[in-house]
Amino acid sequence: MGFHHLHKILAFLLMFLSFRAAHGQAPDTDRAELKVAGATIDVTLPDAPMKLSRQELLGWVQASASTVANYYGRFPVPHLTLRIRGSNGSGIRHGVTYSKDGGLILISVGNNADVAATKEDWVLVHEMIHLAFPNMGDDQRWIEEGISTYAEPVARARMGGMSVAEVWGTFVRDMPKGEPQPGDEGLDHTHSWGRTYWGGALFCLVADVRIREHTKNRKGLEDALRGINKAGGSISEDWEIAKALAIGDKATGTTVLRSLYKEMRDTPAPVDLEKLWTKLGIAMKDGSVSFNDKAPEANIRKAITASPLSARAAHQ
Ligand SMILES: [Zn+2]
Repeated sequence: MGFHHLHKILAFLLMFLSFRAAHGQAPDTDRAELKVAGATIDVTLPDAPMKLSRQELLGWVQASASTVANYYGRFPVPHLTLRIRGSNGSGIRHGVTYSKDGGLILISVGNNADVAATKEDWVLVHEMIHLAFPNMGDDQRWIEEGISTYAEPVARARMGGMSVAEVWGTFVRDMPKGEPQPGDEGLDHTHSWGRTYWGGALFCLVADVRIREHTKNRKGLEDALRGINKAGGSISEDWEIAKALAIGDKATGTTVLRSLYKEMRDTPAPVDLEKLWTKLGIAMKDGSVSFNDKAPEANIRKAITASPLSARAAHQ
């Protein structure tokens, strides 16, 4: 996740080297083409021996892409190049997303990673969400990372890839990392890790709740993000934030994104999280989450992490 921008130069070097490696042994390079929600994903599989079979690796890519397509109503770019590198260990890490060729993701999978690791993986979903939003200037990296940080667990919960309790438990635990610290000058001027990833996520959470409050829970943040993506907002575009937020607001018929940005961009604007959790009916007890369905905005909480799969199953 931090790799996305912090190690851009190193990552470009690695990309260059791996392209050279691919050229040197082109006939042996294992490639596959996946179709997901109308999009094409060209996958390069690792050369090194892996515990995961080819089919298991491709299944993980397919599932991650479907999770993102479900949240956005489509896969956010028509064509993605995905290069999977083998690495030591059992983890999935070092995801990086570039605008090259309409979308390029590099990701490392440990030679000892197993199917359970692919089911728990959040990195590929996080990177694929980056495809759906235009490139911002340096002062607005927080919104790129914030969207990926917030929408990744939400999107996974909606496909049953993460439990609803785990999503809210993560948010209760980690959202405070996005709160302003002493000396904070607002999201556009405070480029710490906490403010970039979790400050951005905090912006998204508050925006999601406010959009739902303003639309009787008929629209949510995903409608704004879908609107931006449909209007051509994707990783291969460079936009001003004002343009993205205006298009997002138009999609929900509100001014939530623009007014929240105004509140948070140049001033600390802390969020009263305790109040927010109570309103949504979320409480932490001994490290586990409990829900109060009688809370005033319990329906908003439920809509955010609603699983269309389980709803559909219930109707069948
Ligand atoms: Zn990222």
